[in-house]
Amino acid sequence: MSKYPLLRVDHEALRGNMKQVISWCNDAGIEVAGVIKATTGMASVALDYEYCGAKWIASSRLEQLQRARAEGVKLPLMMIRVPMLSELSEMIEICDYSLQSEFATLRALEEEAVKVDRQHKVILMADLGDLREGFFELEELVDVAKYVETKFDFVKIAGIGTNLGCYGSVMPTKEKMEQFAGYAEAVESAIGRKLEIISGGATSSLIPLFEKEMPKRINMLRIGAISFCGPQEDLRTSYGRAEVDIMSDEAFMLQAEVIEVKKKASHPIGKLGVDAFGQKPKYKDRGMRQRALLAIGRADFGDITDIVPQIEGVEVIGASGDHTIVDIEDCKEVIKVGDVLKFKLKYSAILRLTSSENVKIHETDRLYGINI
Ligand SMILES: *Cc1c(COP(=O)(O)O)cnc(C)c1O
Repeated sequence: MSKYPLLRVDHEALRGNMKQVISWCNDAGIEVAGVIKATTGMASVALDYEYCGAKWIASSRLEQLQRARAEGVKLPLMMIRVPMLSELSEMIEICDYSLQSEFATLRALEEEAVKVDRQHKVILMADLGDLREGFFELEELVDVAKYVETKFDFVKIAGIGTNLGCYGSVMPTKEKMEQFAGYAEAVESAIGRKLEIISGGATSSLIPLFEKEMPKRINMLRIGAISFCGPQEDLRTSYGRAEVDIMSDEAFMLQAEVIEVKKKASHPIGKLGVDAFGQKPKYKDRGMRQRALLAIGRADFGDITDIVPQIEGVEVIGASGDHTIVDIEDCKEVIKVGDVLKFKLKYSAILRLTSSENVKIHETDRLYGINI
């Protein structure tokens, strides 16, 4: 089998990022749940989080958590996609914690937990306006919390959580965080005890932390993206934040092989219909241009804007499922068939590349003395 396309995972760089973000959080009295879903749940990444001081390993998929445990992760495991009714029995076997937003699901969970005589901790989600998961009304959140606390023996409330910047692109402002801390206090007074976990969001909630606006009550963040992307996760997190520049954006790098180099017209020739994905893109006529074709495609990385070429003058101009076209007219280096081009990766490219069976994963790790 060929060596390419290849995804290189640099665990030194990854752990550097994890240690940095965990230390920022710890300094603010916040513990970190290491979220591994963006790497399709690579167990080695979960082990990195454990080594770097995360207190939970979290994913949106049970298979990934199960694999992490099988590969030696000792930390408590947390399911962070609100579970399906149909996976509750499995979830109880695999996880110690889960996020919840439906009373019906909590009731079914209690039944399952009774059956297998095992406790399970839940974090009730509050939707502060981002409009994905969570109780929309504080009153319902409080009522459900009170019911679970007083009526259930096996399902235990660990705390409350919220999620921002996923669907509604709502920012974790000081006001939102304070509103959320207020929710925590409302739940605490309803159940008559302090909550173990007040989980104030994901990577994007580092913004109020950097701004020193995070309410003291918030004691957990669920962190994925920034550990993998570093300063490259520019859109939501590090925008304008000098702090993040000390992190690495090279923990995950793609290498793809050149299979054709030719001078071609930049505008397609003939009557135009639709492309490989049924779209009608606009093409700019820039005359004849030198271009290279790579043996990797959207089936592997998703969107061309999520892979960033590392040679100056190389521009990704298009891709179909299994081919990627780069313009190299302005590139000073000579690029020929058989060469390998490197790319930095944005979040969703990491997510897809780690799950593509076409892509070989090469992990380097001096700590464990492995070159897998
Ligand atoms: C994906 C996810 C996270 C982690 O988000 P990042 O932006 O990768 O840090 C946290 N919480 C929930 C509920 C998630 O689905």
